[in-house]
This record gives sequence, C-alpha cells and structure tokens, in this order.
Amino acid sequence: MTEGLRHLVVVLGDQLDPDSAAFDGFDPARDGVWMAEVVEESTHVWSHKARIALFLSAMRHFAQALRARGWPVEYHRLGAHDFHGLSAALADTLVRRRPAAIRMVRAGDCRVEAAIEACAVAQQIRVGRVPDTHFIATEADFGRWADGRRQLRLEYWYRALRKRTGVLMDGATPAGGQWNYDQQNRASFGAEGPGWVPEPVRFMPDAITREVIDLVEARFPTHPGSLRGFDWPVTPAQAAEALDDFITHRLASFGHYQDAMWTDRGWLYHSRLSAALNLKLIDPMTVCRAAEQAWRAGMAPIAAVEGFVRQILGWREYVRGLYWRFMPGWLDDNALDAHVRLPSFFWTGQTDMACLRQVIEQTLATGYAHHIQRLMVTGLYALLLGVAPRQVHAWYLAIFVDAVEWVELPNVLGMSQHADGGRMASKPYVASGKYIERMSNYCRHCRFDPGEATGETACPFTTLYWDFLARHRARFAEHPRLALQVRNLDRIDPDRLQAIRAQAAALRGQ
Ligand SMILES: Cc1cc2nc3c(=O)[nH]c(=O)nc-3n(C[C@H](O)[C@H](O)[C@H](O)COP(=O)(O)OP(=O)(O)OC[C@H]3O[C@@H](n4cnc5c(N)ncnc54)[C@H](O)[C@@H]3O)c2cc1C
Ligand code: SF4
Repeated sequence: MTEGLRHLVVVLGDQLDPDSAAFDGFDPARDGVWMAEVVEESTHVWSHKARIALFLSAMRHFAQALRARGWPVEYHRLGAHDFHGLSAALADTLVRRRPAAIRMVRAGDCRVEAAIEACAVAQQIRVGRVPDTHFIATEADFGRWADGRRQLRLEYWYRALRKRTGVLMDGATPAGGQWNYDQQNRASFGAEGPGWVPEPVRFMPDAITREVIDLVEARFPTHPGSLRGFDWPVTPAQAAEALDDFITHRLASFGHYQDAMWTDRGWLYHSRLSAALNLKLIDPMTVCRAAEQAWRAGMAPIAAVEGFVRQILGWREYVRGLYWRFMPGWLDDNALDAHVRLPSFFWTGQTDMACLRQVIEQTLATGYAHHIQRLMVTGLYALLLGVAPRQVHAWYLAIFVDAVEWVELPNVLGMSQHADGGRMASKPYVASGKYIERMSNYCRHCRFDPGEATGETACPFTTLYWDFLARHRARFAEHPRLALQVRNLDRIDPDRLQAIRAQAAALRGQ
C-alpha cells in the first residue's frame, strides 16, 4: 500500500463478496484493502469454535484471492498484533496511512457499524458507504414498502420481490399458479424415518483452514463447540459446489421435509448454504435462479422450489429490512416480561430432554441446526421457560456458524421469542411436546412423555406450554390465531392447572 492512499476499502469477515460495490473503480496504485482478525469479534459473544474458524479461514482465502489479483491488502492476523477490537486496529492504520476516505458496505450489525463510524470520525476521515449489492433489495426499497403499513408481513414483501425480480413468475402470474405451496410441504417422516438421504458435499480443511483450526484451538480453548468435523465451504468456488450439490441431490425433497427432524440426522434435505450466503461467498440471486432453473428443467417440483426460494428471496431479505428499520431499539424489547436465566445445558447438551440434547449436541458438533430445530426445540423451550430475550439472543449469535446479527436477531427476538410483541410474527410460535413428537422421533428416545403435563414423566415442553398460556392468558385470549389454544386451556380443571403451574414453577427455578 503506498502513501497518499485514496480509498481504504474496509472488508469485514461477513463481506467477502468478490463483486462488492466497495471495489468499484478500485485502483491498486491508489487504493488499498484493509482486513483484520481481532479477538473481540470472537469473544463479545462466547463464539462456537467452528464459527470463529469459518470466518477466519474464509477471510484468509479472500485476502489471498485479492492479492492474486495484484491488489494490496493490509491484513492483520490474530496473534500478530495486540489490538483487541476492530476500531483500535483500524485507528492505528488510519493514523499511519491517512487515506482520503474509507469505503465499505454496511456492516452486519449496529455495534460494528457504530465502532467504525466513531473511529473514522475521531480520525477525521470520511466513510463512503456504498450500497450492498449482495442483497436483492436495498434498505430504501424495504422502507418504501414498509412506510405506512400497519403490519409488515413477510408474505406481502415476498410477493413484491417475486414480481420485481421475476423469480418464479410467468409474466404477472406466480409460476405454477400459486404464491404458496405450504399445504404440500412440511410433512414429517412418519414412523419409518427418512431412509437414505444424499449426504451433502463436504470440504476437507486445506492448509489455510488447518492453520486457522490450530489457531482457534490455541487461542480459544474454552469456547464451546468442536472443530473435529469442520467441513464448511470457505471460498466462492466451494460455495458454488455446495449449491450445485444441493440443487442436484436434495432440493426436490426440500419443501416436503423442511420441518421434519430425526435423531442423528442433522442435514436432511437442507441446503447448508446460510453461512456461505452470510459471509457473501455466494450471491442469493444466483441461488434463487439455480433453484428456479431446476424446476423449469423438471428436476424438482414447484412446491419444493417455491418453499426454498421463499426462504431466501422472502425471509432473508425481510429480516434484513426489519433489522435496519428497528435497530438498535429491538435489542431491549421484552414484551413478555421474560427474566429467567438461560439454562446452563444450552452450552453442553447435558439434559434428560432428548430433543434438546439432540439439537444442542448436534449444534456443538457442527455449528448447525436447521430452522425447525432452532425455532421449535431450542427457541420454543427458551420461550416457554421465559428466558430473558437478550440471553437467548447471545446464545444464538454465539453458537451457529451462520450467525450475523442482522439475520440472527430478528429470528430470535422476533420470530422465536416474541420479545417485540408481534412486530415480526403475528403470534408466538408456541406448542406442547406433542408438536415435537409429531415432527420427529426424539420422544421415542426420551424418558418424558409429551402427552403428560404433570408428574415424574411429564414432558417439560407440555408443562411449560400450558403454563405459558395461563401466564399470558390476558394478552392472547382474543388473539385470532391463539384464541383456540386459550380456549383449550380454559377446559383444564382448575386443580389440574394449579398442579401444572406448580410443576412449571419448579422447572423455572432450575
Ligand atoms: C431462532 C432462530 C435463529 C436463527 N438464526 C439464524 C442466523 O443466525 N443466521 C441465519 O442465516 N439464519 C438464521 N435462522 C434462519 C434459519 O434457521 C437458517 O437460515 C437455516 O436453518 C440455515 O440452514 P440452511 O442453510 O440449511 O437453510 P435451508 O433450510 O436450506 O434454507 C435456505 C436458506 O434460506 C435462508 N433462510 C431460511 N430461513 C430463514 C430465516 N428465517 N431468516 C433468514 N434467512 C432464512 C438461509 O439463507 C438458508 O440458507 C434462524 C432461525 C431461527 C428460528
Ligand atoms: S418428550 Fe418432551 S422433552 Fe422428551 S423429546 Fe419429546 S418433546 Fe422433548
């Protein structure tokens, strides 16, 4: 990097997009790229080792690819400097290099964004923020759609984006004639189980990843999770291969089984693309178009493809829009007045509840759980127990390889914990152990009975479910989508309900 720098292009660990607008007009003679590995990004939440390793490995591969283009990259490796946080590391560079301006796309969370802005202001260096073309919609697009609406429901945003992009559209008509094929999706595996499911392609650690794994083991030995089976894509080429593998082998059954769970079968028909998408190793529109193409080529049914596209074009873009619209206030929401401590077994998996044990042990081993495992096992338990939303948020942000706050926070505080009182999800996703019994085989390996709410073998989910409805009866009695559940509560004999609530109080006092 030469003196008299024009643009210092700051690239964070979740901004590894080779086509980023921050590189538009990049001149290696006048501009430089800046990247840094700092301890704080791994410790501000107690990050899973695989999450740390994934980010560092992908960053190092990215820097290598930029250097191969002949671009100057100032890269600060963990262990080679003493800066704890990004702003200290950046301030040091700004003092030394005095670039005319910083260029970057928006950070993945408010905390980092504010730290970089403050650092630049302190050094009197302008931050030129460029639009993040990785996303399909801009924040302004979302704002225009959201302004004046009483409720911001996913379905309408998703349809607007389908129309705008033409994805799965035949002219003005949704492909196949319907917007939504949920009726054909979301089945369980039945008693016989999933049978053979094609294993996803794995990416064996190369020299860079092995070095990072050793570094993480040495620097963060007490952090949760294992690196033994680390096989995540860490480059755009690997992400493209993972997409191709999913489209060819698993997409066709994705929708039908997207909500199903099974013991020791973590991946099932899911894509495993979230981390690659969130680090920007792959472009969401490429993913949606590949899925659409598979349907048009007769490789996958419309229900599977629409169900998959909805997750990316719909949910992913929607939560991003919500995040930037409602942060930073969202973090303090606690509409259900929940204050219980997160049970310690969330960090170990050591519990008699087979569903939680399965999902947490799988997450510790891989850094991954699929959507329903996150929503209807770990998330549901925290919601029913009444865990403080911030603690739930910190756990989810720490424990998944794909966790970046803009996507994690709305899913946790909005969809899963109802901490925002319904801004995102019109009702809390509450269910008893019977739901988990229907969608998995976990209960077959459990000492509890999902049909029981009291006694030695009562399923804690079922006990806490009735207690949750009783605690929040006034709030939900007239709710159009929960009133039926409240009416069922009202049918319970008062003595029995008292016994359920006493058992729930004991669970909460764990
Ligand atoms: C409590 C909770 C926390 C979550 N935290 C995260 C998180 O930190 N990071 C993250 O990427 N996703 C998060 N999700 C959404 C979802 O669970 C994951 O994206 C998904 O499980 C990743 O696995 P996959 O790539 O195999 O996804 P698939 O099931 O194959 O889905 C395809 C893609 O759709 C996108 N997607 C699916 N659901 C959502 C959603 N609700 N919001 C945004 N994008 C979605 C993802 O990019 C995913 O890769 C969370 C969901 C819940 C309920
Ligand atoms: S019985 Fe209850 S605790 Fe046990 S696996 Fe089923 S839902 Fe989970």
